Amino acid sequence: MGGGLIGLACAFELGRRNIDCVVYDRDPGRTASASYAGAGMLGALAETFPDETWRSRAITSAKMYPAWIESIGGPIDFTPSSDLLDGHVDPRDLLRELTSRVRLIHREISSLDELSSNPRILCTGAWQLPGIPAVEPVKGYIIAWDHLPVSIIGGILRDGHTYILQRNSGRVIAGSTEQRIGFDQSQDPAFLSELQSRAEALLPALKDAPPAAHWFGFRPAAEGDVPVVERLDERTILAYGHYRNGILLAPWTAEWVAAEVQRQLGKRSG
Ligand SMILES: Cc1cc2nc3c(=O)[nH]c(=O)nc-3n(C[C@H](O)[C@H](O)[C@H](O)COP(=O)(O)OP(=O)(O)OC[C@H]3O[C@@H](n4cnc5c(N)ncnc54)[C@H](O)[C@@H]3O)c2cc1C
Repeated sequence: MGGGLIGLACAFELGRRNIDCVVYDRDPGRTASASYAGAGMLGALAETFPDETWRSRAITSAKMYPAWIESIGGPIDFTPSSDLLDGHVDPRDLLRELTSRVRLIHREISSLDELSSNPRILCTGAWQLPGIPAVEPVKGYIIAWDHLPVSIIGGILRDGHTYILQRNSGRVIAGSTEQRIGFDQSQDPAFLSELQSRAEALLPALKDAPPAAHWFGFRPAAEGDVPVVERLDERTILAYGHYRNGILLAPWTAEWVAAEVQRQLGKRSG
């Protein structure tokens, strides 16, 4: 359930292990997903995590990235980093390429019981189904600039909550903001102009070009901001609540989930 980056990565990994699966998502283009909105930073050593376990999983996941991107194939805007600080990827490329390699069905799920499959894997991001532990949407804005010189930035510029990166396509991305105000769909001009000012202070060249686009998304925050990647019961595996680091944590999560499914299926057939 859920065809954001986490659900797609799980399905892709299951497919690589010859385990047939289907991904259900109500949003055919996934344009409302956190994955579509994300900046795509992969700096495991530059991010904050709720505890050492998740820091170490993030480091593992960052190290998995180059081989993972290669295994997916297709054009993906990816900048690896040798120091676990400055790597980044375009999550929209990942969504597109993974979607073409899994079976995705356009369908809204309203309850866990709607799916008779065993196991069933819940990857619905910030959207909660009845009977699962709490998850809260944390709204965040991004601003993008096109038509700036390529290589205007080396690595990722950071200052407190502000970051700027440049995709290989030349697009410059600046983030972000945090608001715990539910699934608020309005555009707040004050938040956007404050983000733009912070970005311009960090990279004054941005003042010379008007932004090309801006958008927002909802990071999934579970209790204590700790991701929920665990078994709920004998039929259900949970993989949500990746908060600020779901793009970074996608390969590790997919590996964990696929191993768990394989264990379950092996036990059953054994
Ligand atoms: C502004 C911003 C910047 C970010 N920057 C980064 C970053 O630099 N690096 C990083 O690692 N992470 C970043 N993140 C976080 C990252 O985007 C998320 O943690 C990650 O995308 C979560 O992926 P997901 O698949 O769990 O959820 P989503 O991508 O939100 O996918 C969930 C999917 O489930 C579907 N769904 C939900 N409920 C149902 C239902 N009932 N029936 C059917 N379908 C359903 C939705 O339609 C959606 O497509 C950022 C997030 C935001 C908002």
